Formats: sequence, structure tokens, C-alpha cells
Amino acid sequence: MKKTFFALIVFLVLGLLYWGFSRPQIQKDGKTSVVVSGYVPYTLARQIGGDKIALSMLLPANAEPHSFEPAPGDMVAVRRADVFVYVSPRLEPWAKDVLSASGPETLAVEAAALAVQSEDPHVWMDFNNAGKIAAALAGALSEKDPQNQAFYRQNLDAFQTELAALDADYQRALADCRTREVVHIGHLAFKNLAQRYHLSLSALAGSSHDGEHSARKLAELVKFIRQKNVKTIFTEETLSPRLSAAVAEETGAQILPLYTVEHVSKEDFARGVTYIDLMRRNLESLKRGLECKA
Ligand SMILES: [Zn+2]
Repeated sequence: MKKTFFALIVFLVLGLLYWGFSRPQIQKDGKTSVVVSGYVPYTLARQIGGDKIALSMLLPANAEPHSFEPAPGDMVAVRRADVFVYVSPRLEPWAKDVLSASGPETLAVEAAALAVQSEDPHVWMDFNNAGKIAAALAGALSEKDPQNQAFYRQNLDAFQTELAALDADYQRALADCRTREVVHIGHLAFKNLAQRYHLSLSALAGSSHDGEHSARKLAELVKFIRQKNVKTIFTEETLSPRLSAAVAEETGAQILPLYTVEHVSKEDFARGVTYIDLMRRNLESLKRGLECKA
């Protein structure tokens, strides 16, 4: 009995060690190895680095970045990487632990360092900031891999052009709408977007997932929806759909998705959905939900 118990413990410990140290896998093949915190730097690094980089992400695709706890294997991955990219210490308070484990060769990049900060750390929701994050990535990749500097520069220029087109489409599409009230049954991730396009945002929780969405806050939102004659509520993909369904049932509002980009479904991850794709989906939802004329 004792022996079986001991064997079980050894098996569990080995299993945990293997799990801890086995992800994420870095396969360099002569490429610049880039480890990123979550999906925002992941999709932007892919855009800029293309096939010149070996890219891996610490967070699972559908996990939120605010309260992630890095595993020993994550520390090892960062230590071995050429470049480690995180968004900001405000978004990812855990990044400092990972940074302290990074090796002398690892170039650590706070991608949002040059972005305009607001109370909402989801700075990439403003296209100017998304451009600054992409520029920081291009700079870091060029520093580690100067041979491919022109390639990174070209991809950055192409991305900036796409951002400018996206911004123009947002301006045009959201210029004339029946309502500008965005009621988001999720955490406060769209404040930068709302500010840029003069929308009024109400969210269920604060700017991280830590804040409990209280029953009181939910009741307040329901009251607000009725008072303002809001016909659409927006949901966050990875948050429980039960909350949105309950609010929709209570108020008769329809439900449309908004994508934070900081986490994506496993299906979207496998598909390689990009920042631009997700922001185009957001525009479609906003146009429909706010009943815009364009
Ligand atoms: Zn968030």
C-alpha cells in the first residue's frame, strides 16, 4: 500500500515537472525566437515578424491576461528567448516575475511603453496605440536580427496602412447612429475605442477580471438599458454567456459580440485570426448594434 502511494506521488511530481517544463516549446530553426505574453503581442508579432521569427505565447489562447500565473516552464522559455514581449505591467502585473527570470541575452520589450495611457490598460483599442505597439515590435526585431530589418519595416508599413484604412472605416461607419450607448456585459476593455469614436460605454466590471460583477451592478445596467431604450447588449466572448442571456431576457435586447483581442477562442487561434480581423468584426457588431446609417 505504502509502495503504491509512493509510486503515485513520484508519478504525479514527474508529471507536473514534465508539464511545467514542456510548454511552450521553442523551435528556433535559425530564426529569432520571440516569446510573447498574450494574444495582442502574438498577433502583432506575427504581422511584423512573419516567417522570420519562431513565435510562442505564454498564455493559453482563451485565457485572460490580468491574473495569469506563469509556470516554471514559462520562465525557462523566456530565459531562452531572443525577445520577450509583454504589453504593460498594468495589464500584466505578473510580467515582472517573468522579467526577473529572463536571461542576459533576452531583449525584453514593454510593447505599450510609447502608447498613450488612460485609466483602461487595453491601449491597443486605439488604432494609434496599436501602431505604436507594432512599431515597438519592429524595432526590437530589427535590433536582434538586423539582417531582416527591411522585411520588418515593410511589414510595419503595410500594417500602418491597414490601420489607417480601418480608422477611416470606423470614422465613417460610426458617424451617424441611432444611439451611441455601448452596454458591454464584460470587463472595461473598450474605453479607448469608445473615446476615439465618441461612444458612451457602460461595462459590467472594471478594467481587469478581478472585479466581481455584483448583482447590484447588473441590476443597474438593466435599469439603464430600459431608461435609454438600448436594443443591443455586447458580450465578451470568454465571459459566461449566462449573464448576457439573463440581461437579454430581462430587457428584450439582442446580443452581439465584441472582441477584446487579449484572448480568442481556440478556433480563432487555430485559424490565425488577426488584430485587423477582430477589429473589423467589432465594427460590424457596433454598426448593427448601434443602428448606424452607413
Ligand atoms: Zn482585459
